[in-house]
Amino acid sequence: MASITLKTPHSGDYEQPTGLFINNEFVKAVDGKTFEVINPTDETVICSVQEASEKDVDLAVAAARKAFQGEWRLKTTPEQRGKYLVNLADLFEENMDLLAAVESLDNGKAITMAKGDVGACVGCLRYYGGWADKIEGKVVDTSPDAFNYIRKEPIGVCGQIIPWNFPLLMWAWKIGPAVATGNCVVIKTAEQTPLSALVACTLIKKAGFPPGVINVISGFGKIAGAALSSHMDVDKVAFTGSTVVGRQIMKAAAGSNLKRVTLELGGKSPNIVFADADIDNAISWVNFGIYYNHGQCCCAGSRVYVQEGIYDKFIQRFKERAAKNAVGDPFHEDTFQGPQVSQLQFDRIMGYIEEGKKAGATVEVGGNRIGTKGFFIEPTIFSNVTEDMKIVQEEIFGPVCTVSKFKTKEEVIELGNNTTYGLAAAVHTTNLNTAIEVANSLKAGTVWVNSYNSLHWQLPFGGVKESGHGRELGEAALDNYLQTKTVSIRLGDALFG
Ligand code: ADP
Repeated sequence: MASITLKTPHSGDYEQPTGLFINNEFVKAVDGKTFEVINPTDETVICSVQEASEKDVDLAVAAARKAFQGEWRLKTTPEQRGKYLVNLADLFEENMDLLAAVESLDNGKAITMAKGDVGACVGCLRYYGGWADKIEGKVVDTSPDAFNYIRKEPIGVCGQIIPWNFPLLMWAWKIGPAVATGNCVVIKTAEQTPLSALVACTLIKKAGFPPGVINVISGFGKIAGAALSSHMDVDKVAFTGSTVVGRQIMKAAAGSNLKRVTLELGGKSPNIVFADADIDNAISWVNFGIYYNHGQCCCAGSRVYVQEGIYDKFIQRFKERAAKNAVGDPFHEDTFQGPQVSQLQFDRIMGYIEEGKKAGATVEVGGNRIGTKGFFIEPTIFSNVTEDMKIVQEEIFGPVCTVSKFKTKEEVIELGNNTTYGLAAAVHTTNLNTAIEVANSLKAGTVWVNSYNSLHWQLPFGGVKESGHGRELGEAALDNYLQTKTVSIRLGDALFG
C-alpha cells in the first residue's frame, strides 16, 4: 500500500495513504504519475499522491460496475447497506481528531471548524444509513385486470466530483445518499485537497463495504474529472464546484451517454438586515455568514443589504466585529480563519479586492494580505458599492463582502434577486410577516431567517438558476440517486382475443 508517515500538530505521527483507492485497496496510478500537495499555511509541500489518468478512471469505473452487478446488487440487503454506513459513521466519530487534523493540514481550515465538519460527516452518514431500508415504491390501481407496481431502483455507477472547500463533508454528502440507495461510486477529490478523503478510505473496508462499492481517486479536473463526466459506463454524475465547470460537466454528459447530472454550483447570496432586527444577533450572523470557512463557501452571504435607519450603526459595529476575527494558524484552538486554500485562490481574491478599490468602492476594513508566508487575507468589507460592480456581481470565494443600503422591502427583494445565482439567502427581522414575505420572494434554494449557514443533514440544500439543480441532504437527495421503474401485470384474459 502506498503511504507515507506524516505529522500534524494536533495528531502527532500518522500514516497518510497516497494511492488511488480502487476495490478497497490503495494502488499506484497506471502511469505512475504523482502530484504535490501544498500546505496553505506555510506553502511547503506536504507530500505527493498518485494522480489518476483516464486509464485509472477506467479501472475505478470497472471496479464499481463489477460491484454493482455482483454482490452489492444481488446479495446485499438494504439493512446491510444501512449498517455499513452506520459503521462508517461510528469510525468517523472514533477517528475525529485525526480526520480533523488532516483536514486542517491540507485545507488550512481552523481545527475547531474541521472538527465541526467531521461531526457533520458523522451525522450525515448515520442519517443516510437510516434511510437505506426505507426506500419504498408504490402500487397503483388502474383496473381490476391489472396489477401495477412502481419500483425505486438505484441508477448504477455514479461519478462524483467534489471541491476543496469541505473535502470530507462533501465526500460524506455524496457517499451517503448514493450508497444508501444501492449505487456504487467513483469519487474524484479536488487536486488541492486529496489527503483527508484518503485517510477516510482506510475506514471503508473496516466498515464492511465490499470491494468496488466506494472508489476514491485523486487527480485533476481536466483529466480525471473530464474522463469521469464523459465516461460511457458512468450512469450519473454529481458535481459540486464552480458554475463554469458545471457547464462543462453538462456538456460532457450530453456529448457522451446522456448520463443524469446534478449540480451544486456557485452563489452570490444576499444577507438582508431590516431596521427592526436584533442588531447584535444580526451582526454575529452576518459576520459568520461571510467569514466562516474563510469565505470559501458556495452559500457565503457575500452581499449584505442593510435598511437605511440602522445603516451607519451597523457598518460601525460590523467593522469592529470583523476586525476581531482571529486569523492565523489553523491548529490554534482560538483561530476562526486560516489561510485561503491555494496561491491561485489567494491571487483571485486579491485581484477582486484591487478591482473593488479601482471601481471606487470604500474599504471599510481589511483589504490586505496578512504576513508574507501562507495565503492569509484580512476579513474585508466594502461599502459605497453599485450593483454593476464586479465585487457585487461575481463570486469571490474569499473573506470579502459588500454592504449596501436599502429603503423598502420591495426594493430589497429586487436587489436580492439581482444575480444569476440562487443558492442561499438570509433575512434578519423581528417581524414575522416581513420574514415570511421576503423568504418566499427570494429566488434561492435555502433562506435562513435570523441565522446563516445553518445547514443540517436532514434539510435539503441546493440551488436554483445558475447555482445548479438537484438537492443534497435530506430525503430530497435520495431522488438524485434513484430511478423509477413501472411493472404492469395483466391479470385477466388477453384484451384482444
Ligand atoms: P474551484 O474553482 O473552486 O477550484 P472547480 O469547479 O474548478 O472549483 O473544481 C471543483 C471540482 O471540479 C474539482 O474536483 C476539480 O478537479 C473538478 N473539475 C475541474 N475542471 C473539471 C472538468 N473540466 N471536468 C470535470 N471536473 C472538473
